[in-house]
Parts: sequence; structure tokens; C-alpha cells
Amino acid sequence: MKVTATYTLKQTEFIYRLGDVDIGVVVYKYNNNPGIVLVGPHDDEVTAIEVSKAVLRKTGGTLIKINNNRQRLVSFRIHGSLFQFDPNRMFTRQGIIMSLNKYGNYSPAAVTKISGFASFILSKISPNTRNVIALHNNHKGQYSIETYDNKGNLYRDSRAVYTDSTRDKDDFFLTTDEVFYNKIRGYRYNVILQNNSVAFDDGSLSIYYGKKNKSYVNVEAEHGKSDEQLKMLMIAINPPKRKSKNSVLYNYVIPDSVDLKNAGNLKIYFGEKQVGTLLSASYSPVFHTTFGQLEIETIYTLYSNSDFFLTGKPPNLKMEVRIDPTRDKKPVDRLKETIRVNFRK
Ligand SMILES: [Zn+2]
Repeated sequence: MKVTATYTLKQTEFIYRLGDVDIGVVVYKYNNNPGIVLVGPHDDEVTAIEVSKAVLRKTGGTLIKINNNRQRLVSFRIHGSLFQFDPNRMFTRQGIIMSLNKYGNYSPAAVTKISGFASFILSKISPNTRNVIALHNNHKGQYSIETYDNKGNLYRDSRAVYTDSTRDKDDFFLTTDEVFYNKIRGYRYNVILQNNSVAFDDGSLSIYYGKKNKSYVNVEAEHGKSDEQLKMLMIAINPPKRKSKNSVLYNYVIPDSVDLKNAGNLKIYFGEKQVGTLLSASYSPVFHTTFGQLEIETIYTLYSNSDFFLTGKPPNLKMEVRIDPTRDKKPVDRLKETIRVNFRK
């Protein structure tokens, strides 16, 4: 993606009265790019906030952040009684109740007030936003990709987990969206695909959007690792654009490739029929490999006996899929497998 532009900032602070305190909600708008909204619910996660601003200066978009004196938990009083909650546990009623109980004091009036605050934050996110991303920072070893893998205590919350041995386990993505999951996996970053129908309701933003089946990504990096988190955010911020609604998305790789510039719209044929489209193509000069996502029309199920071929030279490339009837046939697992495309120069 192009990162040459620098967008100017318009900053607005809203004050929300919560019990006896005024909470600042700051909206940073870098020109108008309604497609991108970043959320920073935890005011103590300084790296995440800095990285969000640095990226939005290049891409445009909005950052919504809570001003809370650099504290994670929000505190307020009703009639002298103190309540505390986690602002990333307030997007469902169950989450609010659990968070209040966890931090020592609960009342129905407090739940109502927090629920109002959550609605206020959500009202700043346009329903047309294609891409809601939250940035978080964690401390080494406390919350990691392993929390969701087959040994972790949130294993049931995940539909698929990709762990890359070259990455720090504290740096990972969590997403509600299979398209993002595969894109991030293609870039070999640790990533969890949330199981939206069964994930435990803790009131976090990922649960809120998961219940709505809306696209959402968490970018988790260790405190202080701004370079790493910046790279991660740049990957999450630009999802591939689907061409067809009735299609299934797969990851592909073209080993021993050349830089196939602008291959991102290539049509995929089966015989004379178009059965899909290449959505994205990134080239890794280190591995001489092109990788990305392609989509195949739902009516053409892909099986393990399908072979992909790319022929010709840019801009006259042709991609086709053939079936080898002599081979075993089982469905391709789009969340785990990567299609290898044979390139004939
Ligand atoms: Zn956080």
C-alpha cells in the first residue's frame, strides 16, 4: 500500500459524565477515511496509542481513545460508593456485571451508567466502517497466542489458530473475520480466528462485533514494541476487497516466482469458465515467493485434487485450475491450508 501521504489531524474531545467523574473521549480524525476506525480503550497502553497515530497519519482514518489518566481501569462513584471496571469489558451487559464484581463493587445503577458510556463510545464508530481495529499492549507471558492454542485456557474461543515459530508469542492478532485471519496468516504472524458463536462473553469489543458477525481485529503487542506493532497494524489495516459475495477465500503461494505487479485482479479459469479472482499479490524478494488471497465461487468447491497453474508474463498472465481425477479427493481446509500455484515462466 502507498504510505507517502501525510494526513492532517482534527482532534475533538468529548466529555462523558460517569457518576461523579468526567471521562474524556478523544476522537482523532486524520482527514476523512471512514473505512478505518482504530479504538484504544486502555489509556495505560501508551505504545498502542502512539502506533495508532503514526499509522493513521499515513493512511487516514479515525482513532477513538479514552482519556483516563493513563490508567487501565475506570473508577467513578455513585452516592459516594466507588465502582471500577475495565473499559474493554463494557460492551455487553454480562461483561459489565463481571467486571464490576471482579473489581469489588456491583450495583444495577452502575451497570446502567457504564452501559451508557459504552453506547457513547460505539456511537462514534460509523456503522459503515469496513474495518474496526483495536490496539492493545500486554506484558510478557501473561496473555499470548498460547492462551488460545490447544493448551490455553481460551482454547474454546478460537475457531482456528496460526502460530509462527519465528514470532514472539506475546505479539499476535485476534479477529472475528476469516478474511483477515487468512491475510494475516499469509504474512506469517500469530493470529487467532475467534469462534464467534461460542466465544465466552466477557464484554470485550471482539465479542461485541463477533456477535454481530462484523469484521474486527485486535492487534496485541508487548509494551514498548512500537516497531513491531506498527508493522502489524499496517497488515491489518487494508483487508483484501472481495469481488464476489458468493465466494470462498483461500490463501495461495507461488514458489519460485517473480514480482507479479498488479496481479491482484487476475481472473481464475476452469476451462472456459471464470471460477474466481486473485484478490491480492505480495512478493517476498527474500523467498522469491508471491503470496496472497484468491477467491473461488462457492459453487466450485475446491478439493485436494485441484491444481493451479499460472502461465505467461505480466501483464499477460493467465491463471487456471485443473482437476486430476486420478488423485484422492478431500475438501481443502481454507483456514489451515495454502494453495500452491505452479508457475510456468
Ligand atoms: Zn488493552
